[in-house]
Amino acid sequence: MTFEDIKNKEQKYMMHTYGRFPAALVSGKGAVAKDADGKEYIDFTSGIGVNCLGYCDDGWVKAVSDQAAAIQHISNLYYSPLQVGVAERLCSLTGMDKVFLCNSGAEANECAIKIARKYSFDKYGEGRQKILTLVNSFHGRTVTTLAATGQDVFHNYFYPFTEGFDYVVANDTDDLMKHIDDSVCAVFVELIQGEGGVMPLCREFVKAVADVCAEKDILFMVDEVQTGISRTGSVYCYQQYDIKPDVVTSAKGLGGGVPIGACLCNEKLADVMSAGTHGTTFGGNPIACAAAGYVLDTVTTDEFLSSVREKGDYIRQQLSGMANVKEVRGMGMMIGIVTEKDNAKAVAAACVEKGLLILTAKNLLRMLPPLNITKEEIDRGLSILKTVMEE
Ligand SMILES: *Cc1c(COP(=O)(O)O)cnc(C)c1O
Repeated sequence: MTFEDIKNKEQKYMMHTYGRFPAALVSGKGAVAKDADGKEYIDFTSGIGVNCLGYCDDGWVKAVSDQAAAIQHISNLYYSPLQVGVAERLCSLTGMDKVFLCNSGAEANECAIKIARKYSFDKYGEGRQKILTLVNSFHGRTVTTLAATGQDVFHNYFYPFTEGFDYVVANDTDDLMKHIDDSVCAVFVELIQGEGGVMPLCREFVKAVADVCAEKDILFMVDEVQTGISRTGSVYCYQQYDIKPDVVTSAKGLGGGVPIGACLCNEKLADVMSAGTHGTTFGGNPIACAAAGYVLDTVTTDEFLSSVREKGDYIRQQLSGMANVKEVRGMGMMIGIVTEKDNAKAVAAACVEKGLLILTAKNLLRMLPPLNITKEEIDRGLSILKTVMEE
């Protein structure tokens, strides 16, 4: 099929939920993707933070294909050595106590929300169910995670939304304190707002959240769907904030390209989700767990993590001298660029034309390159970006 055929069939048969770039990607290796017409692209997107080991990493392919040939799916009515392996690894990497495996970021967040409400209900009874999230956050596309998302543009059409969310201005401790009362059971935040424009939370605000949560037995929950799996230079971003959250959610990079999500909770919450209170058909699927096991083995070594920080610093340094760059934000290899000309969308489109895949978030350019991208691939991508930025 040519690109035109694919585009026409997409128009005819698929719901029009996405504004897509004009490329149909059909194969890839490392940080290089190939489209249906054979054109190559350097990929600074990783499929929005998913392909943390790039396209078709040899070890990852072997883990996935060996597992597909051994046993592809079992019901959660049976035990799986792969699931317990992933859960054990996540706990030992974080110090968290229990894991629920699911299929996506939104599902991991749904689990977090259910834990918060049930913990509070079990201990305090009705009326303490409010969850505070941040203005400009993004937590997913289900009706409940849309309600959790603190952006009015997401609160249309699908009424009634799930009740019991309220929104605090990020990095505003006074606003946080104004919202804390006896109806609050959890505060749920992204430490770097991803879709909201690569906005990191400041340490003082995060500390204030941690302190008030500890004092009032309010759960501190972090959405690490985008920031997790070594993206920011530590396995989870919270590890650089000197805090111990009660709940951590993970997805995107966890499977390196197959759907898997996880909700982690600490010891205090270990028994909240009892038999029959939560479940999933596909969650913890053996192929997904084989992939996640391989990813976790690969991206969490000290050497790998320091390479992520080093490459992130290198990209930042190269960007600092580039035309049209006004500000660079983010941590590790989660990078947002504010442009002088406020033309991120046009830059991203021009980059695709010239063979570079790059994202936007709000009015920023956003990069989430594969974590194992080579220096040479980084340079190839940056030189395309530089050409476009100078136009
Ligand atoms: C992508 C994202 C989600 C939603 O994940 P899905 O897998 O698309 O459901 C939730 N929270 C954050 C911070 C994200 O970046």
